[in-house]
Amino acid sequence: MKNPIENIVRTGIIKRWMTEAGTIRVLGAEIGQTVRDAMENQPLNRAGAEFVGEFLVGGALLELALAPADRVLCTLDSDGPIGSCSVDVWPGVALRARVDNPTPDVTPLVGPNAILRVSRQPARGGEVYTTAIPMPGDNIGDAFQLYALQSEQVLSFIALRTTMEGESLERATGLLVQALPGMVHEDLAAITACLEQHSFSDLIGSGATIAECVDRMFGSLSMTFLGADPVGFRCRCSRESAVAAVRSLSEEDLQDLQGGGTEEVECEYCGTTYHIQAADLA
Ligand SMILES: [Zn+2]
Repeated sequence: MKNPIENIVRTGIIKRWMTEAGTIRVLGAEIGQTVRDAMENQPLNRAGAEFVGEFLVGGALLELALAPADRVLCTLDSDGPIGSCSVDVWPGVALRARVDNPTPDVTPLVGPNAILRVSRQPARGGEVYTTAIPMPGDNIGDAFQLYALQSEQVLSFIALRTTMEGESLERATGLLVQALPGMVHEDLAAITACLEQHSFSDLIGSGATIAECVDRMFGSLSMTFLGADPVGFRCRCSRESAVAAVRSLSEEDLQDLQGGGTEEVECEYCGTTYHIQAADLA
């Protein structure tokens, strides 16, 4: 068995802060190791790591900030060099990702007509709510920010930043500043001033930790540290889901199976291959 829930290794963290009045919340993510775990079977080049790393950080921040009880599936549909890309985030925070082309060699990575789809579903099952956002260029942070505003009517600021060590991903970080009910104009003015004064991306680039970034950027607002949520890689595939996929094959393929053949089903997220035979379908 691959990645049963008790074996999930939480290698990343998302920290939370709030202003005294409780009207502004800040989430800061550091999940480089989790991204490396999730993409182990889809080796990324530099451009791929930067894009997929930011996509994973953004998805994790969005899930925790807006829908902590839901599964949030974010899918980029693009005819650009990166192809389509999915980030699947479950409460906990447990995530996995897949990408068509992990080694894109031309920019922009995202095609001009790319769409970001964000689907929310209660983790125990239930109705799925999907919102589609046109991608504003290659910037996945801007797309998530637009999603928060359009779909959830939540005013937020999202900054995502990866750093590389040679050709491999070093850090995958992100910041989400969220307006909470009761926010007044003065709060907005104060937060805007903080964001204009310091760049999250520059601070991360200079080696600051997430806590140092928040202190430097929002120190004047006297933020209170609320706590931290662990983040880890976990795939959701199973032999059962592979069997279900084989059941939906054509009559011809199924006949082959009845004749003693084996159908190979490879999970596009973690790369596990399931060998399904006729007996499995019984
Ligand atoms: Zn899998």
